[in-house]
Amino acid sequence: MNTTDGAATTDGSATDTTSDDRTVGVDFIRAKVIQDNQSGRFSQRVQTRFPPEPNGYLHIGHAKSIALNFGIADEFGGVCNVRFDDTNPETEKQEYVDAILDDLDWLGYTPPNIYYCSDYFDQLYEWAEDLIGKGLAYVDDQDADTISEQRGRFGKPGIESPYRDRSPAENLELFRGMRDGAYPDGAKVLRAKIDMQADNMQMRDPVMYRIRRETHYRAGDKWIIYPSYDWAHGQGDAIEGVTHSLCTLEFADHNAVYDWFLEHLDLPYEKPEQTEFARLGLTHTLMSKRHLLQLVTEGVVDGWDDPRMPTVRGMRRRGYPASAIRAFVDRVGIAKTNSTSEIELLESFVRTELNQSALRRMAVLRPLRVVITNWPDDGVQNGVVELEAINNPEDPTAGKRLVPFSGELWIEQDDFKLDPPPKYYRLSIGREVRLRAGFYITATDVETDGAGNVTTVYCTYDPESEGGSTPDGRKVKATIHWVSAAHAIGATVNLYDRLFTDPYPGEGGADPLDSLNPLSCETLTEAKLEPALTEVEPGQVVQFERLGYFAVDPDDTSVFHRTVGLRDEWANIQKRRENEAKQKKQQQNRRKG
Ligand code: ATP
Ligand code: MG
Repeated sequence: MNTTDGAATTDGSATDTTSDDRTVGVDFIRAKVIQDNQSGRFSQRVQTRFPPEPNGYLHIGHAKSIALNFGIADEFGGVCNVRFDDTNPETEKQEYVDAILDDLDWLGYTPPNIYYCSDYFDQLYEWAEDLIGKGLAYVDDQDADTISEQRGRFGKPGIESPYRDRSPAENLELFRGMRDGAYPDGAKVLRAKIDMQADNMQMRDPVMYRIRRETHYRAGDKWIIYPSYDWAHGQGDAIEGVTHSLCTLEFADHNAVYDWFLEHLDLPYEKPEQTEFARLGLTHTLMSKRHLLQLVTEGVVDGWDDPRMPTVRGMRRRGYPASAIRAFVDRVGIAKTNSTSEIELLESFVRTELNQSALRRMAVLRPLRVVITNWPDDGVQNGVVELEAINNPEDPTAGKRLVPFSGELWIEQDDFKLDPPPKYYRLSIGREVRLRAGFYITATDVETDGAGNVTTVYCTYDPESEGGSTPDGRKVKATIHWVSAAHAIGATVNLYDRLFTDPYPGEGGADPLDSLNPLSCETLTEAKLEPALTEVEPGQVVQFERLGYFAVDPDDTSVFHRTVGLRDEWANIQKRRENEAKQKKQQQNRRKG
C-alpha cells in the first residue's frame, strides 16, 4: 500500500496534457474541464453531481468527492446537484437520505437541486424497451451464478447465453412479464447485448434489470424490477444534463458500458462523459460503508456518529471543524492512483483550525487533591480569590476571564510524584511549581491510603507570586493546571485512540476487524472542570490547557470528547522522513566517494 505525503501525486497533475497556461498546476480533471470549455464542448456548460447511495452515512471519502464536484461547479460557473443513486431497495432508507443532506449542509455545500434516480424508473423502463426493440437487450433465464460463470475472465472466453438470440418480440413480452410479476425473484434478468468476447468484463452483456420483490423507500411497491448501477447511472446523468460525471477508479471498467448505453439511446443533446479519480483512504480506519455498517450493527461503536468513526457525523461529534475537513481534502488533491493519507495530516488541519478558534480552559481529568496549608481561611475574599486568565492567546478579541482559586485544588495525578524520576520537574516534595494563571506552590507533605497511593498533597503557596513572577525573580521549571475544588464541576471525558491498530486494516486479505483497537476509547468519569465550562454550547470545542482540544457532546453538556491532542504528530512524521532521506543520501554519497 503506498502512502502519500498527503499532497497530490504527480500523475494527477495536468502539465503533460496540454500546453495551455491555464491548465498548468491544476489537477487533471480541472484541466479537462478547461479544455472542454475552450473547445466549446457541452456549449461551455459545466454540470457535475454528487451521487450518494442512501445506504449509509457520509464518510470523509465522500467529502473528497463532494469538494471536487461542488468545487468544479463553483470554479467554472456551473451547477452541482445531488442525485441519490437509489436503485437497491434492500439497503436504502429515508433515514440515510436525511442524514446525507444534513451532513452536506454542515460541510458547507448547498445543492441547487436534489434528484433521485428512483424518479427515473419510468423513463429507464421505456428506454429499456427501446433497446429491446433495437435488438440490443435480451431476457436471460439463467441464474446469477451461471451468468457469472459464463462471463469468463480476462483471457478466458465468455460463453453466450442460450437465450441471447431471442427475438425482440419475445424479449418484449418476457420483459413486460418481469415487470408485471409473472416470474419469481431471480428467475430472469434483462441483459444488454454487447460482446461476450470483450476484453473488458463489464462489456460482456451486463445486467440491466433484476426482479426483486422489495418495498422501495420512495417508489414503494410500484416496481418489482430494479435497474442495475450500470443501467441507471449514466442515464441519470443524461436526464439531468450532467456534463462531467466524476467517479472513483473502481468504475474505470464501467466507463465503456456507460458510453455504450448512452450511444444507443436517442438523446437530444451531448452525452455526459465519465472520468475517474482516486478514492481517498485514511490510515487506521476504513471507508467502506459495508464495514462501517458492520461496526455499528455489531456494537463495536456507538452508532454512525461515534466520534471514532470516519463518518462526517462522527467527526462532527468529535469536534472536527468542517473547514478543517475541507482543507484536508483539498490538500490531498485529485490523483489517478489510489493511495492512503495519514490520519495525522487530517489531525494537523483540525489542530491548526482549533488553535485559532478554541477558548482555553482548565480541566483536570484524573484528579489529585492539593491542600494549601498557608492559605488564609478568612483571608482574601473568604479564602477565595479570582485570578485573571487569557481566553485565547491566538485571538486577542477573545478577552480574559476570572478563574476562582481557593485553598483546596485539583491537579492531575501525573503532575505529582512521590519519587520523581530524573528530569521530572513537576510537583514533588520540596519542589516548587507554578500554577497556571496562579501562584507558586511547594509540596511539603502527603497523605496516602492503605495501599500507599497518594490521596492528598499538602503545599504552601507564595502570596507574592500571583501573575507568574516573584519579587526575587525566582524561576520554576514547570507550570501545571488546576481547578479549585470548591468551584469544580464534574464531567465525563472520553479519550480516543485509533479505531484500528493496523494503519491499513484488512490489507492483504485479512479481516479488517481483526485489528480493531480494544483501547480506542477510555472514559474518565471523575474529571473536574473550571466553572466557566458551564457556559459552553453543545458541540463547542475548547482547549483544555496542556491536554488537547475537547468537544462538548451535542446531546449532553456534561460529556466531553477529546477531538485531538496538542502534539503535532504530523510535523514529527515529516521530520522523521526528512532525516531518513538525508541519511539515505549520505549513505549513497559515501558509497560513491
Ligand atoms: P462504499 O463502497 O463505501 O459503499 P460508495 O462508493 O458505494 O461507497 P456512494 O454512496 O456510492 O458510496 O458514493 C457516492 C460518491 O462518492 C461516488 O461518486 C463515489 O465514487 C464517491 N466516493 C465514495 N467513497 C469515496 C472515497 N473514499 N474517496 C472519494 N470518493 C468516494
Ligand atoms: Mg456506490
